[in-house]
Amino acid sequence: MDFTRWLPRRLSPQKVNLRRLILALTICSAFIPFANTFYASYTVQRQQLIDTTLEANHAYATKLASSTEDFLQSALQQLDYAAQVIATHMDDAPRLQEETARLQLQSRSFNSVGIFDAGGVVLATSPATLKITGRKVDSEGVRKSLAARGPVISDPYLSAAGNFIVFISQPIFARDGRYLGMVAGSIYLKQENILDQLLGTHFYEDGSYIYVVDRGKRIIYHPDNQRVGNVLAGNAAADEIAAGHGGKSLVINSQGVETLAGFAVVPSTGWGIVAQRPQEATLAPLHALMRTVLYKTLPVAVLTLLAICWSARRIARPLQLLANGARTMDKPSTDQTIRAVKSWYFESHELKKAMLIGIGLLQKNISKLREDVNTDPLTGLGNRRYLNAEVAGFQAQETPFAVIAIDIDHFKRVNDSHGHDAGDAVLRQLAAQMREISRADDIACRVGGEEFLLLLPKVPLHRAAQVAERLRREIEANELPVVGRITISLGVSCWPGGEASTRSVFKQADAMLYQAKRNGRNRVAVYEAPRAQD
Ligand code: GH3
Ligand code: MG
Ligand code: MG
Repeated sequence: MDFTRWLPRRLSPQKVNLRRLILALTICSAFIPFANTFYASYTVQRQQLIDTTLEANHAYATKLASSTEDFLQSALQQLDYAAQVIATHMDDAPRLQEETARLQLQSRSFNSVGIFDAGGVVLATSPATLKITGRKVDSEGVRKSLAARGPVISDPYLSAAGNFIVFISQPIFARDGRYLGMVAGSIYLKQENILDQLLGTHFYEDGSYIYVVDRGKRIIYHPDNQRVGNVLAGNAAADEIAAGHGGKSLVINSQGVETLAGFAVVPSTGWGIVAQRPQEATLAPLHALMRTVLYKTLPVAVLTLLAICWSARRIARPLQLLANGARTMDKPSTDQTIRAVKSWYFESHELKKAMLIGIGLLQKNISKLREDVNTDPLTGLGNRRYLNAEVAGFQAQETPFAVIAIDIDHFKRVNDSHGHDAGDAVLRQLAAQMREISRADDIACRVGGEEFLLLLPKVPLHRAAQVAERLRREIEANELPVVGRITISLGVSCWPGGEASTRSVFKQADAMLYQAKRNGRNRVAVYEAPRAQD
């Protein structure tokens, strides 16, 4: 019997099972701390790497800015020394020519060197290939220098010859203080120049590099020469440099790559030296490390997971089997199923014990109920329901049987004379004697007030008649305590007799019983099938 079908649908929704619960709980409790530790150690190390790289780049940019400042100061000094030498030889063209050549070739600080008179006319140049000697030059650098009559380092500009240059000059004064002109060196920013020697060594394969911007955010040095002259927009480092500040920051470069930049300003020019490295390249070793950690942890993690699965199964198994058993507690076989459950831990053991006790009680109650339903409470014999069930069995298996219908003679008088309780005692006595005379297979029933039936399977009619006669005699002979002697009348019939239905056999037995009554009571009447009479 499936009791669960009586439960309202709402009360028994699909529930998650214990094994899954244990699994989920253990995996979560193992995985979350691991993931947390992994993530925390990653972020801490990542930040540390970023900070260290930013700091290193800043320090390096500061060092390079200082070297660049030194170079510019020494370039100004060289020009100043030359200016003093030249001051007394302004009319000596070969000497001037010689001086420009010396300045350009000796230090290699400049791509070209020129001497100008106070009106901006070129007196000598090196290399001589420039071929502008004798011509008046009106470039930004020359104008600035003539106007300043002092040391000048120009902002980068496009020269008359089409070179993107920085112009560095010192004025030439005569002994009497007259301004005679100036001596100047140019750095061609788009060609190989002194900055390459100063800065170009820092160009590693990990993608880190140096570049220089002027205070107008224009690139004046870059490992990629094509970029020289470009103005940087939206670049945090260039913005800071333009404001005159050094520092460090995460910068998104023109290719959209996040880079870690350190930068410093060259004091005399306001140029900014930027040392930067793509963040990805900085973090690559950390990522490799984290991957290694993961791979090394994986085998143990998988083994742990398998162990957890196995344990969860072991823990859940007894409860699962007990739960399955609980669904079929009314079935007799469930007792065996529950007994077979290996309840290896305390709770499951207690549950198993309780269930076995419960099942025992339930089975006992069920069989008691079954018995009660089929039993006559006064005599303990079977009742009509029991009789019907047995007859249905005989009919299904085609088991022939004989029927003896029994009724106590003048029973009313017993009740009337000795009371109802005495009557009941008579009924119980008759029942006891019916049981006594019955074999194991026979079925004795009380089917009415003082009407009884005895079913004798596989017994022929004449044998049944003998049993009936024996019972009649035993009752007649028995002296009862209060009532004294009683008698019974009996009708006998059998199935299959003349008719196929089992119902007719009871009618025939009944008819015989009344025939016995009519014929004077205390006798047996046996049904004679019509064919047998012929
Ligand atoms: P006869 O059968 O010989 O014709 O006469 P009778 O007096 O026995 O008549 P009948 O079989 O009709 O009697 C039935 C009586 O049985 C009526 C009632 O007083 C009595 N009786 C029925 N059930 C019970 C019972 O449970 N206990 C007792 N004490 N008496 C019962
Ligand atoms: Mg009767
Ligand atoms: Mg009677």
